Amino acid sequence: MGNQKLSAVIIFICTLFWMSCSNDPKGNNPKDTGTVKTTPRVKAPAFNSDSAYTFIQKQVDFGPRVPGTPEHAACASWMTEKLKSYGLDVSVQNAPVTFYDGRKAMLSNIFGQFHKERERRVLLLAHWDTRPRADRDSVRRSEPIPGANDGGSGVAVLLEIARIIAQNDPGIGLDILLVDGEDNGDPGGEAETWCLGSQYWAQNRPQGYKADFAILLDMVGAKDAVFPREGTSVYFASGIVEKVWSAAANLGYGNYFVNNIVGQTTDDHLFINMYAHIPAIDIVHYDPKRMDYGHFHHRHTDSMEYIDKGTLGAVGHVVLDVLFNEQPAPAP
Ligand SMILES: [Zn+2]
Repeated sequence: MGNQKLSAVIIFICTLFWMSCSNDPKGNNPKDTGTVKTTPRVKAPAFNSDSAYTFIQKQVDFGPRVPGTPEHAACASWMTEKLKSYGLDVSVQNAPVTFYDGRKAMLSNIFGQFHKERERRVLLLAHWDTRPRADRDSVRRSEPIPGANDGGSGVAVLLEIARIIAQNDPGIGLDILLVDGEDNGDPGGEAETWCLGSQYWAQNRPQGYKADFAILLDMVGAKDAVFPREGTSVYFASGIVEKVWSAAANLGYGNYFVNNIVGQTTDDHLFINMYAHIPAIDIVHYDPKRMDYGHFHHRHTDSMEYIDKGTLGAVGHVVLDVLFNEQPAPAP
């Protein structure tokens, strides 16, 4: 996660009124004409936050997932096998990159597809690498962080969603992309020093690949999490922000998914928007009061003690609710 550009850019949002997608059979029109008919939302299957929690624990147990280390390689194998075990069609893209500090690495972007033949599809992504140094800490600043929240949480929620859709078909296609090399950027430098895995994937994605929209999860497991409407998401994909935040409000998660609009974050969704031209949003922990990411950010305190099952459950529930209320393409 990179720098927040809190410039005083005023973002005008076109408020989009999302029509409730109709699941009704033809002819089932409301009889009264005095009210607007709203179709009940499809109830999504339950998200298991205990399971998601164990997926974070497993990643943390490997050790810091710093590109080029054996811990990183071991975690990549585990995640790949996990997605395969849920029946996804999985491929691993090797991405040769050079970080801003001159270090070279071979990244692994892990891409799992559910019903790749389906036209209507949603892309879910999270970065799985962890920051190689605790540069925002006051101690051991050159040592890597556990990355329970920053790295671990997004992956864990997506693995849990993969487990669930293996048993409950949402009726649309779904892709889960675990991107590498997000978190070795230059805090004072250019946006392009961050998110090397997603930059590579967006510019070398599978031929003809399309998705209707994308949701990025980053730092979605802290006990004091707050997810404002993030500026890059609002700039590129305000309708998707509206869709997700109103789903959250409907489900009673307005305490996490707040309506403040904050400055633009450099995160993987920026490059999915810019290079893959897929409208992409970021659900990312950012405290609008402190104008900063969480207290754990790029510190050794980003460990299991900071992880909260309630937060994981809220995010998982919202994403599943959105997925299960997308409409499959009409039969040809
Ligand atoms: Zn980070």
